[in-house]
Amino acid sequence: MNIEKYTKILLNEDVVAIPTETVYGLAGSISSEKALHKIFKTKERPYFDPLIVHVSSIEQAKEYVTDWTEITEILAQNFWPGPLTFVLPKNDKVSDTITSGLNTVAIRMPNHIKTLKLIESLGTPVAAPSANPFKKTSPTTTAHVSEYFPDISVMDGGECQIGIESTIIGIDDKKITIYRPGMVTKSQIQTTLMKYNIEIEVCQQESPVAPGHLKHHYMPETPIIAYETNDIKLALTQINSNTEMKKYMSHPYIWNLPDDPTRVAREFYGLLKNIDQREFSSILILYSKNYTEDDKWNGILNRLEKAASFSF
Ligand code: AMP
Ligand code: MG
Repeated sequence: MNIEKYTKILLNEDVVAIPTETVYGLAGSISSEKALHKIFKTKERPYFDPLIVHVSSIEQAKEYVTDWTEITEILAQNFWPGPLTFVLPKNDKVSDTITSGLNTVAIRMPNHIKTLKLIESLGTPVAAPSANPFKKTSPTTTAHVSEYFPDISVMDGGECQIGIESTIIGIDDKKITIYRPGMVTKSQIQTTLMKYNIEIEVCQQESPVAPGHLKHHYMPETPIIAYETNDIKLALTQINSNTEMKKYMSHPYIWNLPDDPTRVAREFYGLLKNIDQREFSSILILYSKNYTEDDKWNGILNRLEKAASFSF
């Protein structure tokens, strides 16, 4: 593995695109302000949008926060390495550039052997948002990253296995708040804590400091039309009868979401990127009402809602 090469780039205060199980990240050492600024500049990301710190162990995470509760420990033991991010009170080893001046930091241990080895070899966590220009779809392959940022070094870790960004949670004594839904679900969190006899409310509430929650985000160039039905005929008839929508319906790509949320999450951004490069007039995504009953769909439907230009 070429870990040494990428460690050197990070030690040189530059950035590297890294594989994770969720999406590719654009990483810089948390101890380099220069690298942190390059992340924002490269992505054209506004400074009010804080970054997630990626660590290689639970012990390392504890070095950067002032409060690590029993609940945090249980969740870390059960879900790390994995797609679950904690928002925790930070100490002064975490720069304001990372947290947008907030007194909390978002932190997680990603489940990708190469990236864990890179962080270990660097000896310092990395801050890494998704490796795409602000608001664009997240990259799940090295090709996607290179297409966005041809001049950035990319550590090849294959295709991302989860495919959508991590679940982000805030933890306090009385409740857990899901700021961004993902493939670690509310019921998984609750079931895990129940095993330790901890019963705690878990609610979902978009964080005002989380611009992933801007109305439109993760958007491809080709407009997405999201339609809640699995009856293609019905959807086509209804949309075609809407005069404003006609121009988007000359040559639509139709994606009737299959039943397996794990697969849909893994394929979601890749498919949007692929279709974007072909000459379709729109991407019509059909999904079913029953999906909303299974919380494995929450993260996917959240991304779909942000990515869609039109929803029916
Ligand atoms: P990305 O790295 O692009 O997946 O985005 C990171 C996201 O994490 C931000 O857009 C915020 O939504 C969220 N985040 C990071 N730090 C905090 C924090 N201190 N409090 C709440 N949300 C945060
Ligand atoms: Mg992002």
